[in-house]
Amino acid sequence: MLRRAVFFFLALATLAALIEGQQQRAKRTRGSSRTHERRARHKPAKPPVASFVTDSGGRELIVRLLDIGQGDATYIRNGSSRVIIDGGPDTAAFGRYLDSLNLNNSTIDVVILSHQHLDHYGGLQELFKTTRHIRVRSFFENKDPSAAVTLAELRDSILSRMDRDSLIYRDTDDPCSNGRPICTIAMTGGAKLHIMAPFPSGDGANNRSTAVKLIGPDSASFTMWLAGDAEREEIGWFETAGYARNPGMRVNVLKADHHGSCNGVTPRYLALTDPQWVVASLGTGNGYGHMHTQAKKIYRGARVPWYRTDQNGTITIRTPGTVGGGFTITPEHAGTSLDGPSDRVSHQPGCATGAR
Ligand SMILES: [Zn+2]
Repeated sequence: MLRRAVFFFLALATLAALIEGQQQRAKRTRGSSRTHERRARHKPAKPPVASFVTDSGGRELIVRLLDIGQGDATYIRNGSSRVIIDGGPDTAAFGRYLDSLNLNNSTIDVVILSHQHLDHYGGLQELFKTTRHIRVRSFFENKDPSAAVTLAELRDSILSRMDRDSLIYRDTDDPCSNGRPICTIAMTGGAKLHIMAPFPSGDGANNRSTAVKLIGPDSASFTMWLAGDAEREEIGWFETAGYARNPGMRVNVLKADHHGSCNGVTPRYLALTDPQWVVASLGTGNGYGHMHTQAKKIYRGARVPWYRTDQNGTITIRTPGTVGGGFTITPEHAGTSLDGPSDRVSHQPGCATGAR
């Protein structure tokens, strides 16, 4: 009798907790949609930078190399997991992508700043704008000292969210805080992300870029390597560090290091990564001469075609996550291995002869 009474009480308590949970969820939903409507009325009538098919949220892995101007910004979605690597040069452009990707009122699980240059961190401040109601669970960067005021502001925002939202702030030099150089993050749809410590004594910010290897839910179908603006010095070090063995550098898609600069690629790097496609992120009319003629020559020599955001717009890669499902790579504007108006020969040392 007593046992039956206890069981009945427990059942009642569970039911009450369930109902309360539902009510709170409903309240939150109502609250957020109201906020959204209010904001929608005041939003300037500016068209989205690109229209996106709704991300499925299943096993499918979607990678979008955003057309952000002269800089890098990549959005990755798999299952309910969302990852952002770099945020481009300015808040306005990145903010428009946050709108068009429906990321306001959402949780971003992992944000990675590849290295400390404005064309990579400039837009990230927008993630912390209170009116967006975005929660960032973890933020990775190399935490090197910097005199840049805008980077200090970003770091202040990160620190304030550590208290308020329990944000985890990781140092890419020790990405899992366990003394190991590789931190592996599982996404809920089955994809994985290896975050690798940068060259400890890399000369300059570019050579302190963290490398990321993205592995699709079906690893035989899709892998991708992104290493910020790593130049020849660090590119060579990736092999010395053993990354070619673990986690392995051979991939289906390579993000061109340093916006297609001649110092961001070597024949050896292409031999190690052995990509089927290169994707480059850069701005139309950039003053650096990207993509450099020498870089394109190295890609052509290895028979690797490329898409580039300044000519092709946002580049979307999809892999269904099923065994043998392969992957698709779709530019916003058609055209393969295009030249751009800024492309020129670079005269920096080491590039003219084509490095090994
Ligand atoms: Zn850059």
